[in-house]
Amino acid sequence: MDEPLLDTLLARAACPPSELTAAPSLRLAIVTCMDARIDPLAVFGLATGDAHIIRNAGGRVGPQALRSLTLSQRALGTREVLIAQHTGCGLAGLDDEEFAATLAAETGERPAWRAGGFADLEESVRASMRAVREAVVLPHRDRVRGVVIDVEKGGVWEVPDPDREKFRR
Ligand SMILES: [Zn+2]
Repeated sequence: MDEPLLDTLLARAACPPSELTAAPSLRLAIVTCMDARIDPLAVFGLATGDAHIIRNAGGRVGPQALRSLTLSQRALGTREVLIAQHTGCGLAGLDDEEFAATLAAETGERPAWRAGGFADLEESVRASMRAVREAVVLPHRDRVRGVVIDVEKGGVWEVPDPDREKFRR
């Protein structure tokens, strides 16, 4: 099998020793999209070791992100959650049902997961904030904020969140 890219990556792979602790120094977890244009540390002015960065398609809080957030908070001491989704996301406008039906037709297997398509970007961010606040397994649900990163025009804006005050302690 010819795998020039993977061969290159493996050949140059290196990791210097770290004096950082596994627990993020700012006690922060960020959930964001896997989109290759986003550099979460740069966007939020962070350094290695500051925060957990939980990435998936869409930057949405579903069962797998909740698994990571639960471990992040319970085992590694984070207590604030930032949701960061973005313009130009591949999940914008995706129809989950249609996507699952296509997979089933092409492969004979219907996925157990939802793709996570959404029609409204800000509503998608709010849905993920709600998912954090409703997850009773999370010890810290009072500091949750959400933003949109504009990867096309540049910039970041906070998503208005009518539920925020209700959850402040
Ligand atoms: Zn995306």
